[in-house]
Amino acid sequence: MSLMAALSYARHGIPVLPVHAPDQGGACSCDKGVRCDRPGKHPLLRHGLTDASTDTDQIRLWWTHWPRANVGLRTGVMMDVADVDSAEGWHGLRHLLHDEVPAGPRVRTGRGGLHLWFRPTGFGNRVRLLPGLDWRGAGGYVLAPPSRHASGVDYSWIRRPTSGLPAGPPALLALIEGPALPPAGRRVTHPIRYAETALESESDKVAHAPVGARNDTLNRSAFILGRLVGAGLLDEAAVWHALTAAGLWAGLSHAEIRGTLRSGLTAGIRQPFASSGRDAA
Ligand SMILES: [Zn+2]
Repeated sequence: MSLMAALSYARHGIPVLPVHAPDQGGACSCDKGVRCDRPGKHPLLRHGLTDASTDTDQIRLWWTHWPRANVGLRTGVMMDVADVDSAEGWHGLRHLLHDEVPAGPRVRTGRGGLHLWFRPTGFGNRVRLLPGLDWRGAGGYVLAPPSRHASGVDYSWIRRPTSGLPAGPPALLALIEGPALPPAGRRVTHPIRYAETALESESDKVAHAPVGARNDTLNRSAFILGRLVGAGLLDEAAVWHALTAAGLWAGLSHAEIRGTLRSGLTAGIRQPFASSGRDAA
């Protein structure tokens, strides 16, 4: 059964990898058994993710060898996945997207969470994007139906993929992208100066955004600067003023700008930027 699923994913261009599976008692099929700290979740292959394949002969060979293997899918190739593992994560995501979570493919995970599939963003994995929400992108993988969780529950489709995947909503992409600066783990020594530079560079991005990307750019910039407003590093009125001028320069209408600024800023303010070392949302 998992072989058929694996072949079907591969036929859609998604690289597949066999993953250890739990037995009836929840023990991992690896040497550690009950002592495994990631039962049924880590790859069977020596090189893990990099061995993931769409080659049907290779996949048949793997499942001949390990007929009960869980099905892992490499992310960042055909899809990225929002990994929601608690009610808090789901509420956080809905809040961020103003209750407009795109109606793409959805998986109920073995421990009762959700996987939401999106078009690849080009970004890598992000752990704890929000409490209870991780992002699986380039260099990551997820388990897919009909994999079995250590709890004994199978991953299952709530909504199967049909044609095309939804794009990641701008507020979500902005959160994944993070502020344009500073590298993870670097302490911001002059938060105010940093915020002022960000205001300048984000306004510049909006003013020069190409037609077709203007509104998305404005939304992302509003979100990024909103995080600095939330941290008390920028004045909301100043951000509103600068981004409105930039949006008008780019050719957007007053009405478009107002609507986008309101949602982008509000979402950002709710995720204040932390200037002390790690940018923990
Ligand atoms: Zn294991």
